[in-house]
This record gives sequence, structure tokens and C-alpha cells, in this order.
Amino acid sequence: MEQKLSPGVQRYVDRANEFVARRAKFRAGVRRLKFDTIAVHGAYGADEVYASGNGGVIEPIFPSTSQAYRDSDEMEAGLGYLIPTWCYSRIHNPTVFYLEETLALLESYGCDEDASGLCTSSGMSAIKQAIEPLVALSGAAGEAINFVSAAQVYGGSFQLFNVRMRERGALVRWVTEPWDIEAWSALVDENTRFLYAEMPSNPQQSCFDVAAVAALAHARGIPLIVDSTIATPALMRPLQHGADVVVHSLTKTVGAGGFAIGGGIVARHNLTSRHLPDEAKANYALWLKLWPFRDSGPCMSAHSAFFLLNELRTLRLRIASMSANTMTVARFLEQHPKVERVDYLGLSHHRQHDLACRYLRLVDDGTPTFGHLMSFNIAGSAADTRRFFDALQRIYRATDLGRIKSVATLPAISTHAQQGEEGRKLAGIPPTMVRLCVGGEHPDDVIADLDQALRQI
Ligand SMILES: *Cc1c(COP(=O)(O)O)cnc(C)c1O
Repeated sequence: MEQKLSPGVQRYVDRANEFVARRAKFRAGVRRLKFDTIAVHGAYGADEVYASGNGGVIEPIFPSTSQAYRDSDEMEAGLGYLIPTWCYSRIHNPTVFYLEETLALLESYGCDEDASGLCTSSGMSAIKQAIEPLVALSGAAGEAINFVSAAQVYGGSFQLFNVRMRERGALVRWVTEPWDIEAWSALVDENTRFLYAEMPSNPQQSCFDVAAVAALAHARGIPLIVDSTIATPALMRPLQHGADVVVHSLTKTVGAGGFAIGGGIVARHNLTSRHLPDEAKANYALWLKLWPFRDSGPCMSAHSAFFLLNELRTLRLRIASMSANTMTVARFLEQHPKVERVDYLGLSHHRQHDLACRYLRLVDDGTPTFGHLMSFNIAGSAADTRRFFDALQRIYRATDLGRIKSVATLPAISTHAQQGEEGRKLAGIPPTMVRLCVGGEHPDDVIADLDQALRQI
């Protein structure tokens, strides 16, 4: 940005600089508020409400595809990214901005370092956008590049890594025991671009020591990326433990009402990567948004952002009640003779209960809290499992999770069907496994439905 600006363009830049300084001050104030207050008000404060002239209390929705400029000078300043602007809704949109800011503030809650957010059309596009620049750079002469991921990942992520990234020449190395730090370090070499894991994973609920894996990544000069879809910032904020990038399917737990598909990326400023250029590392989410993202076009719609913003406001309350309900249901299933095993992080026999207690704690409260995701295996055959599943009356059969309405699925024929028998074995998904996400109903009614369906086998 060394070029000399015309006086007209400079006038817009000067005016914008004042606005940017005011916004930075406002944002610093918001960062000092409590989690629920940030979730409720986000990046939309009283000054903006009153300045709007209409006093609307809720963030406005901007369905417009494009922004009009007052004159050619403002257009030049805007499209040259010299002033804050949204130009065109594929690049940026004011309603999406409110969601991005709120998500970034919640994910960096309690962190010294700041972070920025970027919202995408889906969780998968968030993951793809987050990793793409890291695998775009070629390896040491003649060598293939790689990245290391926990094997227990969402089915779509498994395919993205195992098929799509391989097509590009970026080879995934699976860590089958991500809770073991040695298993990670054994797979990292000179050509490793990043480390990746879910916490807790869907549906196995495997955990890993975020701080230890982040330290390993940084010692090798690479970033750690964490998919925190299930935990949400109400239970864990990976950036606080050293992770560099957090990705979300906002479709799921954040968007519990089930109105919109969406994804999010939150990246710490000055992330670790010895491969990315400095301008990308300084503010990765913003850099992604301004450059690679606009050339691919996986943008979120203003309508989706509006719904998701509204859902975020009650995130902590919802997670607290859904977690309590899930614990009650897990205890019921544990006693049931037709159930072979129950996997829920909240049960003390779960092999990662201790790790979960360390990392998953209700924000601003500190109580270990384990979320809404559980799975159990039917004591019987695959056919028995389907009979049970088909008999459910209130719990919906849907490949979905984190809903305010309880949903169940059979991972072997749904979320993990694509990856084949071998892949499912690697990830530990038998055909008798039922994934259950307990919603906001009274747990007695969820239990009654499970009980009648279990009696069918
Ligand atoms: C669903 C899911 C995704 C993908 O998100 P979409 O919004 O469906 O694209 C990624 N990670 C996890 C853990 C998920 O559950």
C-alpha cells in the first residue's frame, strides 16, 4: 500500500481510520465482558444502535448482494481494501460480520491474544478453507507433503482428508490413539503442514491433550487446528490451550434450532506456521476472507448468519441443560440389559473421562460438563439395532446433532457410510452403534421413548 493516494481517496481513508479506531476501542471493551454478555450483544453496541437512526435492538439483516459507493473515490478505496467495506456479499456482508465477530470474541474469551473469525457456507467449507493454504505450498524437493490428523473425525472430514487432499498430493497420516502424545510426534516430519483433531470427536468422543499437541505443533513450526463443533466455546476454547485455528460446523450445536447450514473459522493472530507468508499469519481469518475465500466463493448468506447469531445468544444455557439431560439418559442406558455399552464422556468409566474433566468445563462456572453427544451399542445384531432404531417415536432419525430436539442415527449407514468397512474399523464404528444427541426435552420423555424401542428387540 505504498502508492500515493489521490486526495479524494485519502479523504475516505482518513475518515475510515477514525471509524476503525472507535471500533477497536469498542471491541476492547466488549472483550472485557462476561461470556453470556458477549453472546447476547456481540459486536453490536449501543452507539451503533442509536447512530442507525432507527434504534433497532437486534443486528439488522442485510440481504443486499452489493454495496453502493458515493463516488469513484469511495469505490476505489473500498475495492482496494483501504477502508472497511463489504463490496459484494460473496466477499463480505454486514450481518455475517456480526456473527464472525461474536464467534471470534467467544472463542478467544479469556485469551490474552486476539483472534478473528470467518463464516462459511458449511462446516465442510470451513475445514477446507482453513487447510487449503497450508497444503498449497510444495514440499521439500521431490517429497510429498503431509498432515497429521486424529483418525476419529467426522465422516465428511475423513473423506476430505483421505480422498480430496490425496488427489492434491497432500497425504493424511492418521493418529489412531490421539490421547497419546507419542502417537502424534512419531508421525510428524519436515513435510508436515499442520495437526488436526476434533474434541470431542463425533461420534466416538475421543479426546486429546490440546495443550500438549499444540506444544508439539509449535515445536515443529506448524499450527494445530481443532474442530470444536461438539464442545462449542461454552465448554472449551482451544485457543486458550494453544491451538492456532478453531473450525466449526455452526449447523450443529451452535445452530440448535436447525434453520441453517453454516461453518466458522476462528484463528489466533500471529499463528505458528513456517510455511505461510507473514501477511497470512498475522491475521489468518481476515487474510483468508480477503484473498483465497473470495476466489472460491463459499460464503454464508445473511439470512443464515441472522439465524445463527440469534442461536448463539443462549448457547451456554442450552449446553448446560442438554448436557444435564444427556447425563440422565446415559445413566438410564447404562443399566439397560439390551445395551452392551454406553460411551459418554460424563461417565467415570469412559477412558477419557479424566481428560474430558480437564478440558470440558462450563464457561464462567467451571463445572466439568460433557455436552449432548453420546453413543451406545445395542446388545444384539445389526438387524436388532435397526429394529430398535425404527421403533423410535419421538427421537428423530436424522444425520444431525446438537439439536434442541433429540436426534439419533446409525453412523455405519449414515455419517460414516462413505468411508467403507475399513475406514469404519479404523475409526471404531460397529454396525450396532447408535449415536444419540439428547436435546432440550425433559429427559423422562426421552428415556420413555428409548425404553419402548428397546423393548422391540
Ligand atoms: C457436521 C460436522 C461437520 C461438517 O459440517 P457441515 O455444516 O455439515 O458441513 C464437521 N465437523 C463435525 C464435527 C461435524 O459434526
